[in-house]
Amino acid sequence: MVRRIGILGGTFDPVHIGHLRGALEVAEMFDLDELRLIPNARPPHRETPSCSAEDRLAMVRLAVADLPPLAVDARELERDRPSYTLDTLISLRAELAAEDQLLLIVGWDAFCGLPTWHRWEELLDYCHILVLQRPDAGSEAPQALQDLVAARSVPDPQALAGAAGQIAFVWQTPLEVSATQIRQLLASGKSVRFLVPDAVLAYINAHGLYRASN
Ligand code: ATP
Repeated sequence: MVRRIGILGGTFDPVHIGHLRGALEVAEMFDLDELRLIPNARPPHRETPSCSAEDRLAMVRLAVADLPPLAVDARELERDRPSYTLDTLISLRAELAAEDQLLLIVGWDAFCGLPTWHRWEELLDYCHILVLQRPDAGSEAPQALQDLVAARSVPDPQALAGAAGQIAFVWQTPLEVSATQIRQLLASGKSVRFLVPDAVLAYINAHGLYRASN
């Protein structure tokens, strides 16, 4: 049976309800068999002292523990340097059946920056791209992408066909929450209750993460 797998990369520093709600909505909308959150590696000097890759991964694991089809994929952290998305896609593809669908989920802003990605023209050889478009953002792709969008986008996201190669746009109103905001609240001693799952909050507290005193 053909499987449909979504992937959502991010720093998840920390994972929050915006990520989880958005991921869950996409998973339901596309009836995904799996939606893998893939924490990105960062250059070691950019890790804040209070939050290691290990902590970020542990929090994502806690967040999706009872939330199928959401899952965690740690492959980018298992390498000793940041991965190009293309490399991640190639390594995922090697584990899937040829006909399985892979959906790379990107926000509109990230999509607009696509032409700066490593070997970006090859991405669609390995996956479909699902662009989460905010209702308040511009709806026209930048010039460098317009030809690709014209050639590869499908008007009905539900009609994505084949294992890879198409672009679809989904309109989604994101929750107004960011990891930056959460780090700032914690650094100033404020509560982040209800902005992250309780299990993530318990981890943050138990490990003293993001507190100004660290
Ligand atoms: P930071 O504030 O540290 O930049 P962030 O909250 O934006 O972090 P990332 O880890 O950079 O989180 O995001 C990973 C992915 O999740 C990105 O594709 C991003 O567009 C998406 N995302 C982030 N915040 C939200 C949100 N509130 N709702 C839906 N998707 C989100």
